[in-house]
Amino acid sequence: MDNCIFCKIANGEIPSATIFENEDCRVILDIAPAAKGHAILLVKKHCPNIFEMDAETAGRIFSVVPKVAAAIKEATGCDGMNILQNNGPAAGQTVFHLHIHFIPRFDNDKVAVGWKPGAYEEGEAAALAEKIAALVK
Ligand code: AMP
Ligand code: ZN
Repeated sequence: MDNCIFCKIANGEIPSATIFENEDCRVILDIAPAAKGHAILLVKKHCPNIFEMDAETAGRIFSVVPKVAAAIKEATGCDGMNILQNNGPAAGQTVFHLHIHFIPRFDNDKVAVGWKPGAYEEGEAAALAEKIAALVK
């Protein structure tokens, strides 16, 4: 897509610190890392978010995740890793081209990824689960 920086990076039009590439995606180091080794997987074919992605492409893309995660873990010596993917401004997405974050985590580091645990009213979780289940296509 014109004027999409991640399309240009994913397809090699803009140089990047690439750590993996195949026909579907390119994994690069994030320019403003939460921790050193923070990487992002960019799909090569423009797709704004997970809601627009077909299951077959998602399967191919996500099959890359374990081996990239293992390589980052070995290279950085991290103790853990957050793998996350933001969809829409409400979820913190700032670049509207689908990408998956790999954030190396170290015991007692100061990286903040999280939420305040909430709660359901009596029966609310079951009703919501039923509503969502009926909409899974
Ligand atoms: P998100 O908030 O999930 O949309 O994440 C966007 C991520 O892309 C941020 O972590 C940015 O630091 C990263 N980013 C933005 N521009 C570049 C770039 N040119 N090269 C590498 N990473 C980038
Ligand atoms: Zn794009």
